[in-house]
Amino acid sequence: MELLDGQLVSRKIKDTLRLQVAQLTTEGKKVPHLAAVLVGNNGASETYVGAKVKACAEIGYKSTLIRLEDTISENKLLNIIEDLNNDVDVDGILVQLPVPKHISDEKIINAIHPSKDVDGFHPINIGKLVQGQPTFISATPHGVLLMLEHYKIDTKGKHAVVVGRSNIVGRPMSILLSSNTNTGNCTVTICHSHTRNLKELCLQADIIVAALGRAEFVTADMVKEGAIIIDVGITRVPDASKKSGFALKGDVKFDEVAPRCSYITPVPGGVGPMTIAALMKNTFMACEERNGKVLFD
Ligand code: NDP
Repeated sequence: MELLDGQLVSRKIKDTLRLQVAQLTTEGKKVPHLAAVLVGNNGASETYVGAKVKACAEIGYKSTLIRLEDTISENKLLNIIEDLNNDVDVDGILVQLPVPKHISDEKIINAIHPSKDVDGFHPINIGKLVQGQPTFISATPHGVLLMLEHYKIDTKGKHAVVVGRSNIVGRPMSILLSSNTNTGNCTVTICHSHTRNLKELCLQADIIVAALGRAEFVTADMVKEGAIIIDVGITRVPDASKKSGFALKGDVKFDEVAPRCSYITPVPGGVGPMTIAALMKNTFMACEERNGKVLFD
C-alpha cells in the first residue's frame, strides 16, 4: 500500500507556483489576487478560508479576506460580489460555502463572473467541463486529478465508483474520471443515498472516490484487494482527547481499509491540501488570463 501524500504533492505544486509568481514580478506583471468571502463564523469554514489565505501568502499571491456577519442580506452579499467582479485587481473570487440558510447558494455561485470563478462552480464553467473544454475545474476534483497525475496512476479502463453526487465534488469527479484524458477514461458508476447495492458496486471498483460526508462509512468488506482509495470526506467527530474537542475523520475506515488497497489518501493530509493547491492553480490561471494569456476560449 502506498500513501497518496497530499501535503507533499500540494507543497510541490505551491513551490512551482511561487517560482511562477516570482517570474511575473520580474516581468513587471501583476501577481494573482484572490478575494475570499466568509459569511458568519462556522468553525470549519474559518479553518478552510484561513488555510486558503495562508497558501496565498506562502506563494506570494495577494489575498483579501472579507468577513461578513451571518445576518447579512442576500442582496448585500450579491452587491459585494458585483464589486469584486468589477475590481480589475481581483483575479479570483471564492465565497466559502455553506452560506446561511436565508441566502441561496445558487444565486451566489451564479453571481460570480465565470472568469473569476476559481472554485469552478459556475454553470458556465461546469458546462465547459462537461464538454471537455478548458476551464476552471472545481477545486476538489481538480486536486484529486493532480494527485493521480503526480503518482502516475493509470486510470485508463478502470472501474471508478464515486460515492456522492454533489455539484462541487461527486458529480464533477465522475465526469472528469470518465473524460477522454490522461487522468480519465474510467468506466464510472456514481452512487448516492438511493443506491441500493452500494457494497456490491464498491467491491467491483478499481478506484473508489468516497465523497458522502459520513465518517468511516467505507469499510474493508466493501473494498476489493488492490483498489485505489480517494477519501474526500472530512467530518468533525467529538473527541475529548483532542484540545479542539474533535477529530477529523474521512469517509473511509482508514486502519482496516489501508492494508487491502494499492493506494490510499489519508485524512487529514490527503485531498484537503490538494483542494487548496488546485484552487491556487486556478487562481494563477485566472491571473494569466487577465495578464493577456489566452488559456480558455
Ligand atoms: P453533500 O452533502 O453535498 O453530498 C453528499 C453526497 O453523498 C450526496 O450526493 C448524497 O446523496 C450522498 N450520500 C449521503 N449519504 C449516503 C449514503 N449513505 N450512501 C450513498 N451516498 C450517500 O457533500 P459534499 O459533496 O459537499 O461533501 C462530501 C464530503 O466531502 C464532506 O465530508 C465534505 O466535508 C467533504 N469535502 C472535502 C473537501 C476537501 O477539500 N477534502 C472539499 C469539499 C467537501 P443524495 O444526493 O442522494 O443526498
